[in-house]
Amino acid sequence: MIEPQRLIELNGAAERGGDYVLYWMQQSQREAFNPALEVGVAAANRLGLPLLVGFGLMDDFPEANARHYAFMLEGLADTAQRLRARGIGFVIRRGAPDAVALGLARQAALVVCDHGYLRIQKQWRTHVAAAAGTRVLRVEGDVVVPVGLAASGAQVGARTLRPKLAALRDRFLAPLRRQRPRRDAQDLQVRGDVDLGDIPRLLGRLSLGRAATPVSGLRGGYTQARARLDAFIRTGLRGYVAARARPAEPQVSMLSPYLHFGQISPVEVALAVAAAPAPHADRDSFLEELVVRRELAANFVDNTREYDRYECIPAWAQRTLGLHARDPRPVLYSYEDLAAARTHDAYWNAATREMLATGYMQNYMRMYWGKKVLEWSASPREAYAVLLQLNNTYFIDGRDPSSFANVGWVFGLHDRPWPERAVFGNVRYMNAAGLERKSDIKAYARRWGAAALQ
Ligand SMILES: Cc1cc2nc3c(=O)[nH]c(=O)nc-3n(C[C@H](O)[C@H](O)[C@H](O)COP(=O)(O)OP(=O)(O)OC[C@H]3O[C@@H](n4cnc5c(N)ncnc54)[C@H](O)[C@@H]3O)c2cc1C
Repeated sequence: MIEPQRLIELNGAAERGGDYVLYWMQQSQREAFNPALEVGVAAANRLGLPLLVGFGLMDDFPEANARHYAFMLEGLADTAQRLRARGIGFVIRRGAPDAVALGLARQAALVVCDHGYLRIQKQWRTHVAAAAGTRVLRVEGDVVVPVGLAASGAQVGARTLRPKLAALRDRFLAPLRRQRPRRDAQDLQVRGDVDLGDIPRLLGRLSLGRAATPVSGLRGGYTQARARLDAFIRTGLRGYVAARARPAEPQVSMLSPYLHFGQISPVEVALAVAAAPAPHADRDSFLEELVVRRELAANFVDNTREYDRYECIPAWAQRTLGLHARDPRPVLYSYEDLAAARTHDAYWNAATREMLATGYMQNYMRMYWGKKVLEWSASPREAYAVLLQLNNTYFIDGRDPSSFANVGWVFGLHDRPWPERAVFGNVRYMNAAGLERKSDIKAYARRWGAAALQ
């Protein structure tokens, strides 16, 4: 059953006759555990029509580059195969997602779409709803608790959102029944213009930013995501609480890239972890990250117009950072120095090299990494811009609500004032002693070959 609170009518229009029901896929790029898809199957069965899934592939998604696209296209190839095996049509066309959706909507009896919280994702949905000429139904399937239901307005921190989520969470942690489409879509004469059969070739033909190249260690797609989840439950979940503070020996799920592209459902992940044979404390700690922290980020982006600008950080933090903006910095590095891992700090260089090579970094290390950019930049405003750009260029999970919320966290978002010190004012500071105490950070630095500048 799909909780009714996940559904919203976007335009109040009536359904009409058509060749198919269209699920315009954008955020939830998966066949498995996808409530928007299942709403589409149910509607198609009710109308006696086949279900067509349509995806618009644009080259110029803000800040996206070849690294992000490779991962996304691998995921879409996996999804396409799974959909066709279920008798559901799948077409992918070059173009802006809203334009592709509207093109396919012309022959559709109704349109189902999924939900995303970034500005551009909301604009696309508003446009499709206004111009589709038929009913458009939105299904919110990439969070456990629908964001608007969990809380009204931006929350000051996890402490205010946590009890609200706790009161609602179990209602939304329910298995999703896969339904069988009654009409097979194989006879539909609707063609795409993108071949997912040769992804390296396709990447070469798209005009993408090349600042970050595809990585080999993380392959996109639900099949990979589910395998990672199962492996993490078998070997990583037990001891997760303690491991979170140990960046050198990461014991993590590495699911954030898959969650970012909607390649796996957070409800599916949460159900599997909740039922796992691991200590309560480890399961709770994982669910705190997956549900509370991740959905705090969605709450922030959904409710903050300037979520990607320095102005998004709280007033107290802007004030204290402003008072210390002219404090002498221990060193200053440019974006180019930082992106080349050229600093005096071997731990920081190691973390950056890991990010450059793999598109990933463990959470505790990301915290230290971000705080140092604030410390080594000429002003907090410049630090914010540099950190967001590094984050969104190189992490496969970049450009996510969690990117904007966590970069903001470095500057005091969702945190509280701490004792005052140079550069940071009352914003939380971090130093290398914490890394050295908690982890074999020297081994980590050796592993990534990050020699300090002499
Ligand atoms: C400076 C900084 C930048 C960050 N940038 C990003 C980013 O661009 N994209 C991104 O997805 N996350 C970001 N994070 C949050 C977090 O570091 C990653 O989500 C996490 O490291 C992903 O690894 P994992 O999947 O192995 O996590 P696990 O430890 O296995 O956790 C499971 C899931 O919980 C969620 N989660 C864990 N920590 C956080 C957190 N702090 N905030 C929100 N959700 C969380 C993620 O969805 C993650 O996949 C950032 C954190 C910091 C401090």
